[in-house]
Amino acid sequence: AFEVLVIGGGPAGAGASIYTARKGFSTGIAAERFGGQLHDTLGIENLPGTPYTEGPKLAGELERHVGEYDIDLMNLARAVKLVPAREEGGLHTVEFGNGGKLRTRSLILSTGARWRNLGVPGEAEYRNKGVAYCPHCDGPLFKGKRIAVIGGGNSGVEAAIDLAKIVGHVTLIEYDDKLRADEVLQKKLRSLSNVEIVTSGQTTEVTGNAGKVDGLKVKDRKSDNERHIELEGVFVQIGLVPNTEWLEGSSLQLSKHGEIVTDEEGRTNLPGIFAAGDVTTVPYKQIVVAMGEGSKAGLSAFDYLIRTEPV
Ligand code: FAD
Repeated sequence: AFEVLVIGGGPAGAGASIYTARKGFSTGIAAERFGGQLHDTLGIENLPGTPYTEGPKLAGELERHVGEYDIDLMNLARAVKLVPAREEGGLHTVEFGNGGKLRTRSLILSTGARWRNLGVPGEAEYRNKGVAYCPHCDGPLFKGKRIAVIGGGNSGVEAAIDLAKIVGHVTLIEYDDKLRADEVLQKKLRSLSNVEIVTSGQTTEVTGNAGKVDGLKVKDRKSDNERHIELEGVFVQIGLVPNTEWLEGSSLQLSKHGEIVTDEEGRTNLPGIFAAGDVTTVPYKQIVVAMGEGSKAGLSAFDYLIRTEPV
């Protein structure tokens, strides 16, 4: 059995495993795809100390860093079930898609999240070529340009308010006949002169030209009329889905959005089980946050292991 088993090999899992290995604990890291969302990311310009890097390059560097320690890296390993220890100090078991099982004294869950897609023609084709999901990351790429934000919940409206300061014009498109964001955010949004709000709007296609987004087709769900909006960027803000389906049915506490509930030390409701990064209730889903939270969970696992007698 491991002393520490990390499930998920994104920035959070890499951070966690480096910290526990440096404390001298036997550490394993099992990931469906080591590097996680970094593989979907092109330019990264907001990792302090690294003015510019690219997702796959950073993933490679994390793998190299993990490889400098005695960490058992198991790539292409998909966890399908968690069986928590029956008592504090006992062994937790994780089952994998290939039928294998691993046992561990402490467990760090960092299986990340994925952006919900629109699922319309053009979205996948123009991903990173005008179709974006992260305003904090990609907003500055659209300085002075015309963009749309799709989604009128809190994240969509926050994104529109944020982007309106940088871009030339924002069209906010909500499928429902009213916005769902908090009233104070809606009020702020309505006060901005370069924002148009479209409700009952169904995005039917992302259009492009010469390998770049050039517009959006939006159908009015009341009149069925379709119009083409010319723009250069589309931010999809219809939800971030945590990768916790495999934990349902275990006694681990999840929020109503399916995120793992953690405290300020990265502890879950189960002793010896910690979580970090995009999969948790910690706000602001960013690389630097995930790395920091992963490192913190690693230190919390260390603290647990030195204080708990194995049973
Ligand atoms: P993830 O990166 O999601 O990693 C999760 C890990 O868990 C992966 O290894 C995955 O394979 C694994 N996993 C999932 N389910 C299982 C399972 N059942 N069993 C085993 N393993 C599993 N952030 C920035 O700070 N700057 C940016 O410029 C930036 N740009 C982005 C651009 C795009 C297109 C996207 C999608 C995200 C971007 N982000 C950016 C956000 C950033 O990538 C995430 O916040 C960060 O990767 C979260 O790290 P994580 O380790 O929590 O999760």
